[in-house]
Amino acid sequence: MSQLEHALGLIAEVPDFPQPGVLFRDLSPLFADAKAFRVVVDALAETIPADTDVLAAVEARGFLLGGGIAAAHDFGLVPVRKPGKLPTVADEVSYDLEYGSATLQLPAGTIRAGQRVAVIDDVLATGGTAAATCELVERAGAEVTVVSVVVDLAALGGRERLAGRSVRTLLSV
Ligand code: AMP
Repeated sequence: MSQLEHALGLIAEVPDFPQPGVLFRDLSPLFADAKAFRVVVDALAETIPADTDVLAAVEARGFLLGGGIAAAHDFGLVPVRKPGKLPTVADEVSYDLEYGSATLQLPAGTIRAGQRVAVIDDVLATGGTAAATCELVERAGAEVTVVSVVVDLAALGGRERLAGRSVRTLLSV
């Protein structure tokens, strides 16, 4: 078994969280293991084109991955946040969830027109979160180079929702 396979094997599957019927993929045990965290950071970094300037990391577990990749591989980092957290907001995008809707916000003074941006998160499910993040990036006049996530829940159609974009994942389940 490779080091990456071992690291991905640390992801816990938690039934019925945060609601009945959802099998939650919890990366906490992976983050808690120094070697596994580093292996996954490096593997995800390899999916990012070298001419990328900035990582747009999605709250909250995307922050952990994005921070690790940015520091180790020399990218800027922008935290894309849920409402009510940022003191100054450049833009926001709302999108539909199965029940209700969600909003993501881009901090002011971060992504500039012409920059090349990789979108980072832990899990790709329906793709709504990643699509909204791409929209924030593009409305700022920047270009999305790749959407990179650790786990792709293939049956939920995230890749289809992101059709036409470069989508890279370390594990597809
Ligand atoms: P989606 O917008 O449907 O692609 O959902 C992706 C976002 O929700 C990511 O930020 C994930 O962290 C989170 N998420 C959705 N489904 C799961 C799941 N089964 N396990 C862990 N995180 C999930």
